[in-house]
Amino acid sequence: MSSSSPSPPAPAKATAGSNAERSRHHNRKVVLGYISANAPAGRAEIARASGLSTQAVSNIIADLEADGFLASQGRRKGARGQPPVQYAINPDGAAALGFELRPDALFVTLVDIGGAVRHSARIPLAASGPAEAAFEIMKAANTAIAQSGLERSRILGAGVVMPGPFGIELDRGSEAELHGWADTDPAVFLSNALEMPVIVENDATAAAIAERVRGVGAGLDTFCFVYFGTGLGLGIVARGQVMRGAFGNAGEIGHIVVEPGGRPCECGQSGCLEAYTSRLALRRMLAEAGVKADSAAEIEALHEAGAPALTAWLDSAAPPLSRAIAMLENLLDPQAVVLGGALPDRVLDDLIARLDLPAASVSNRPDRKRPRVLRGVSGRTTAALGAAALVIHDTITPSLEPS
Ligand SMILES: [Zn+2]
Repeated sequence: MSSSSPSPPAPAKATAGSNAERSRHHNRKVVLGYISANAPAGRAEIARASGLSTQAVSNIIADLEADGFLASQGRRKGARGQPPVQYAINPDGAAALGFELRPDALFVTLVDIGGAVRHSARIPLAASGPAEAAFEIMKAANTAIAQSGLERSRILGAGVVMPGPFGIELDRGSEAELHGWADTDPAVFLSNALEMPVIVENDATAAAIAERVRGVGAGLDTFCFVYFGTGLGLGIVARGQVMRGAFGNAGEIGHIVVEPGGRPCECGQSGCLEAYTSRLALRRMLAEAGVKADSAAEIEALHEAGAPALTAWLDSAAPPLSRAIAMLENLLDPQAVVLGGALPDRVLDDLIARLDLPAASVSNRPDRKRPRVLRGVSGRTTAALGAAALVIHDTITPSLEPS
C-alpha cells in the first residue's frame, strides 16, 4: 500500500481548553488535536481557538516538541512585525500499530501520527487461538516497526480488531468466530505479549473509525457502517462518538432476524441477516453451485464474468439487507449507511444497486444531499487501519469533558 497523508476532518469548533493543572493531559490533547486539524498553526492562534492562555500553550508546545510529537515549521513569511513560529505534527514522532485478527488471517498496519500508512501486510493463519495469534502478532509487530524506520519507543500502542461478541459465549459454533478466547481477556493478554498498551475493538467499529479518518465517513458525524468480515457487523458513530453499548457488543446486526422462519443460522435462529448477506452466505451459495471461490480476487473474477451463482447471491442478499438498512435508518437516523469490508468494490456497488429501500423511512428526506447508502473506500485493511486510528484518536482527540 502506498503512503498517503490525508488530513483528518476538521472539528466543527475547537474543543475548549482548561487552565487548571489537573487538566494538563486534556489540554495537551486540545493543542495536539488543533494542530492536527489546522497545521501549520502558531501559539497565539491556538490560544485564541482553545481559550488557553498563550503561556499555557507555549508550555504545552515545548513539552510536545521535546516529546517529538510536534515539529517547528519556522516563522510564517509575510506577517507583519515578528512573525509567529508555526507548528505541525511530526509524523516521525509517534505511530500506532493496527491488527485485524480473523480466523484465517492476520492483517497488520502501522500508521504514523500524521495519518500516513508506513507498513501493511496480510499474514495467513493456520490457527487463531490466543497463543498462536499472540506469536504471529508479536512477529508482525517487529517486522512492521523495523520496516517503518521508526524506533520502538515511538509506538504509542496497538489497536486489535477481533470479531465480537466480547465476554459472552453464545456457542454459535460459527466459522465467523475466533475460538479459544472465551477465558482470555484479549486486551490484557496482548498488552503483556506486545509490552505496549492495547485497545481491543470489534471489526465493524474499527472500520467505521477508519472510514471517518480516511474515507467516505469524513464529514459524517452520525452514520452506520455495515461491515462484511467473515460474518456481518455494524459500527455506529453518533455525533462523532463511537456507540459501543454497555458491554462493547452494540451492532451485532448479523443475527437480527429479517426472514422469520427463513434459512437456519449457526446461532440456532432462523432467518438471520448473516444467513443471507455475508461472505459466508456467498461462499455457501457458490459451493452449492459447485463453484469454489473465497479470495476477493476470485470473487471479483466471478462477478466480472457474470457467474449465475454470484448473481443469484446478490439477488438473495439485497432484499434482507434492504430491510435491515431500513431498520437502522428508523432506529438511528444516520446521515448515511456505509457498506464495506472484505468484498470487492464492484460487488458491493452491485449489491447497493439492487437495494430496494422503502420510501417510508426517516432517511428519505427531501433535503438529502448524499445517497442513503454509500460504499466504503478504505479497502480490505479497513479494520486494521481503524484499529491504529483508534490509538492515535485517543492520543490527539480530547474527550468532550476534561479528564
Ligand atoms: Zn444467527
